[in-house]
Amino acid sequence: MKSPIPDYLAEVLGDSAHAVEGAVADYIPELAKADPDRFGVALSTVDGVVYAAGDADVEFSIQSISKPFVYALALADRGLDGVLAKVGVEPSGDAFNELSLEPGTGRPRNPMINAGAIATHALAGMAGWGAAERMERVVAGLSEFAGRPLRVDEAVCASELETAHRNLALAHMLRSYQILDEEPTAVVEGYTRQCSLLVTTRDLAVMAATLANGGRQPVTGRQVISPRVARQVLSVMTTCGMYDAAGDWVTTVGIPAKSGVAGGLIGALPGQVGVATFSPRLDVHGNSVRGVHLFGRMSEDMGLHLMDVPAPSRSVLRKVRTFDDGHSTAIVFQLQGSLGFTTAEVVVRAVVESTERTDRVIFDIERLQSVDRVGRVMLLEVVRRLSLDGREVLFLDPDGVVPDPVPGDGGAVRVVRTREELRAR
Ligand code: GLU
Repeated sequence: MKSPIPDYLAEVLGDSAHAVEGAVADYIPELAKADPDRFGVALSTVDGVVYAAGDADVEFSIQSISKPFVYALALADRGLDGVLAKVGVEPSGDAFNELSLEPGTGRPRNPMINAGAIATHALAGMAGWGAAERMERVVAGLSEFAGRPLRVDEAVCASELETAHRNLALAHMLRSYQILDEEPTAVVEGYTRQCSLLVTTRDLAVMAATLANGGRQPVTGRQVISPRVARQVLSVMTTCGMYDAAGDWVTTVGIPAKSGVAGGLIGALPGQVGVATFSPRLDVHGNSVRGVHLFGRMSEDMGLHLMDVPAPSRSVLRKVRTFDDGHSTAIVFQLQGSLGFTTAEVVVRAVVESTERTDRVIFDIERLQSVDRVGRVMLLEVVRRLSLDGREVLFLDPDGVVPDPVPGDGGAVRVVRTREELRAR
């Protein structure tokens, strides 16, 4: 059978092709030469399957879509506090090339506007590195996100540098506020090279999926950045990724996103997918007209809005059974699905309500698929309290789904791996 997903993508491309408003960016002379009719879409799952349609393998310059990824590298290299000292996280509601410095500190408001992105570029790599070394870090880092070596389009870079007066002005302002502590022209040159890296729509979908996947590149399997850094980047994309259209975007499309003036647009839906589109005609905010259209359609069709409430998952409690052999009583809680705060709360409640007169409490967690940090802590705290109340506690956990099952002070749990072992006890 042929997968229906590429056919769906081809269909939505066809449906958005009528949008011919907008214009290609011309403030960078080389970009004005782009073919305005190019149109591609790609979607990458977090387990590394990529679906694409249209011009998904055509290269174009990444432009501002580099910003979230270089922000990720800066966070990885300098730590959250090191970056926050120089660049804020507040949406500015301004256009991409506004100055938007915070009164008092002089910090650019966020890393998605140019002022913030220029300051962020200077934070990639280690303190004290020269411009060349830093650039290597940026190219290597973004290549890791893409899963292939990326290269700079020298013509686009040279063309943008010739007319980079505004970015130079921003960098000089940043220097005057000591947000930059080096030569502004070198930083703008590096930032411009970063923006001139060539990518395809397919690359961008995988890069976005890496952010959606807690920093693990879904195709190569490499952990490019930590889950905490990925969370930070997605948060900033949600509030600041679409410049002065951020509020409209988050309410209608509801996917953390970033656009670039060459016509690329990415969306990263945490835990689900990375999506990318390419179409060079831009709207007044500098976002791809067809890209915005396509994202709206896909979000609606595929139910990708971040704030859509998911259907309630099946109850975490599959079965609760009590046994009484005349001498002692036992209760078995059979759990399923995943254990996080809200599902663990259901378990806590059931245990509190039904273990008053039980000698033995058994958690059959064979069907539990995952246990997050909070789920584990809550389950082990339940074990500890049951132990302190004099109950014997057992886990039937064949796959070791609860890592390090050691409850705190006074708690004890016996872990058995098979049903036979459980019956023998
Ligand atoms: N290199 C572009 C600039 O700094 C990026 C802008 C964008 O893609 O929004 O002007």
